[in-house]
Amino acid sequence: MSEKISRRRLVQAGAVAAAGAALPAAGAEAKNRRKKKPVQDVVVVGAGLAGLMAARQLAAKGRKVKVLEARGRVGGRTYSPKHGGVTLDVGGQWLGPTQDKVAALADKLGVQTFKTYWEGQAVYQRNGSRTLFNVTSPIPPDPDAAETLNLVLQLESMGAGISRSEPWKDANADLYDGQTFETFKLANTTGEGARFLTDLATNAVWACEPRDISLLHLLFYISSAGNETTPGSFIRLTSTTEGAQDSRFVGGSQQLSIRMAKQLGSRVQLNAPVRQIRQEKGLCYVTSDKGTWRARQVIVAVPPAVSAFIDYDPILPSDRAQLIQRFPQGNAIKVQAIYDTPFWREEGLSGYVNSDEGPVKLMYDNSPHDGSAGVLLGFIEGQEARLAGRMSPAARKAAVLANFKKTIGNAAGSPKAYVEKNWAEEEWTRGCYGGFLPPGVLTGFGPALRKPHGRIHWAGTEHAEIWNGYMDGALRSGEDAARAALARL
Ligand SMILES: Cc1cc2nc3c(=O)[nH]c(=O)nc-3n(C[C@H](O)[C@H](O)[C@H](O)COP(=O)(O)OP(=O)(O)OC[C@H]3O[C@@H](n4cnc5c(N)ncnc54)[C@H](O)[C@@H]3O)c2cc1C
Repeated sequence: MSEKISRRRLVQAGAVAAAGAALPAAGAEAKNRRKKKPVQDVVVVGAGLAGLMAARQLAAKGRKVKVLEARGRVGGRTYSPKHGGVTLDVGGQWLGPTQDKVAALADKLGVQTFKTYWEGQAVYQRNGSRTLFNVTSPIPPDPDAAETLNLVLQLESMGAGISRSEPWKDANADLYDGQTFETFKLANTTGEGARFLTDLATNAVWACEPRDISLLHLLFYISSAGNETTPGSFIRLTSTTEGAQDSRFVGGSQQLSIRMAKQLGSRVQLNAPVRQIRQEKGLCYVTSDKGTWRARQVIVAVPPAVSAFIDYDPILPSDRAQLIQRFPQGNAIKVQAIYDTPFWREEGLSGYVNSDEGPVKLMYDNSPHDGSAGVLLGFIEGQEARLAGRMSPAARKAAVLANFKKTIGNAAGSPKAYVEKNWAEEEWTRGCYGGFLPPGVLTGFGPALRKPHGRIHWAGTEHAEIWNGYMDGALRSGEDAARAALARL
C-alpha cells in the first residue's frame, strides 16, 4: 500500500503528533459544518492494530479515511516505551506460527522478530517447594501431570469442532454455554495439581478465572487459535516454541502501529476521543474532542466494553447493547524488572516460572534480543490482579520482587528499574488481554457480534474469527471491517 500513499502524505506524518488545540465536543459539529470539512468515505474510531489496518486497507483502495484516536499515541494495547535505554513491551508482545497476518505485516513494515529465550531450567514453585525442570518439557513435574494432559487433550478435541464464525450454532452450544470452565474442570479432574495447572493456564490465556468464563467461549477461542488451513489448538495457545509465545518484535510490537500510522500521515488524528456517532440522512456525524467528521461509513475498532462509552444516535439495537454489557475485559498487570545482564542464564535458568504463590504466578525472560540487559517479566492475572490492584504501588512492588527473589534468586530482588502496567486502569482499554464471555452470552447474543448498526461496522480483536484476542486477530478484524465498509460505499 505504501506506494499508493503519496510522498506529501508521508511528510504530513509529523502533523499526527502536532495536532491543534482541542475543540469542546459541544458545538463542534456546527463549527465543522461552517468550515465544510470534506465528507470522508470512512471514519475509523481507534488507532490500535485493528483500526489502523482497516484504514490502511481503505487508503490502499483510494478511499478517503480518517482515524480518530482517543490517546496521544497509536497502538492501543501494544505500547513499547523505553526505560533506561531498554525497550519494554508493556502490552501485547508475542507472535507465533499460524499468526500469518501479523507476521506478514511485520515483514512488510521492516519490523524484525526474534525467538523468545527458551533454554535451561524452569522453576515449578508449588506447595512451598521449588523444583527445577527442563523448560522444553511439555508440562511441569507435578504428580497430576498425566491427568492435566488428559484434560488438555479433551479440550483439543472439543475445541477443534467449534465453528469460528457461529459458535452459538454448535450442536452442544447450550450445554457448553450453560456452564463455566470451572464446572467443566471440576467434573473432569480430581487432582489438586491438575486443577492448579488448569487455573494457571486460564489465567495466562484469558486473564480471568475458570469460574468467570463460559466453556463455549473458551472452546471457541481454542478453535480460533490456528489459521485458515490449521485447526486451532489449546497447546498452541499455551506454548512458547511453536506456540503463541514463540517470538517477539525487535524494538517492540508498537512499531507495527507507529509505522502504519506514519504511512497514513494526517489521516490519523490523535487526542480525539469519540463521544458520539449520529446517523442521519445517509451520513454519519462522528463527534470527538477534536471536532466532528462526516462519513459515509464508520468502523468502531475499540474493545466491546469500551465501545459502550460512545453515545449512539439512533441508539444501538437491543442485541448489541445487551452484548456489550456482558463482554468484560480480562484482568492483568504486567510487571518487568530490569537488570544489567540476564544473570539467571549463567546459572542455567530460563527465567520461566510457574508458581502457586501470588501475586506473580507466571514469569518469563523478557530480555532484549541482543541480551544487552536482563529483563524479567511477571504476570499478575485474574483474581491475583484484582487483589494486587487494591494494594499500594509500594506494597505491590515488594510482593512482586519477593516472588522474583524466591523463584529466580536473591539478585532478582534488586533490579535497576521496575515497571508495571495495570491495563484495567487505562481509560481507553479497561482491562486485558482481551474481552471474554461469561456463560449464556454467545448463545444469547452471538449474532450481534459482527452485525453492523446501520452504517457502523465493528472491528477489534474481540470480533476476529481467527486468533481472537491476539494482535493477529485484531489485524484480521480490521481487514474484515474494511471489506464490509467498502462493500457498502
Ligand atoms: C498486557 C498485554 C499482553 C498481551 N499479550 C499479547 C501477546 O503476547 N500476543 C498477542 O498477540 N496479543 C497480546 N495481547 C493482546 C493484543 O495486544 C490485542 O489483541 C491487540 O493489540 C488489540 O488490538 P485492537 O486494535 O483490537 O484494540 P486496541 O489495541 O485496544 O485498540 C483500540 C484503540 O481504540 C482507542 N479508543 C478507545 N475508545 C476510543 C474512543 N471512544 N475514541 C477514539 N479512540 C478510542 C484506544 O485508545 C486504542 O488505541 C496482549 C494485551 C495486553 C494488554
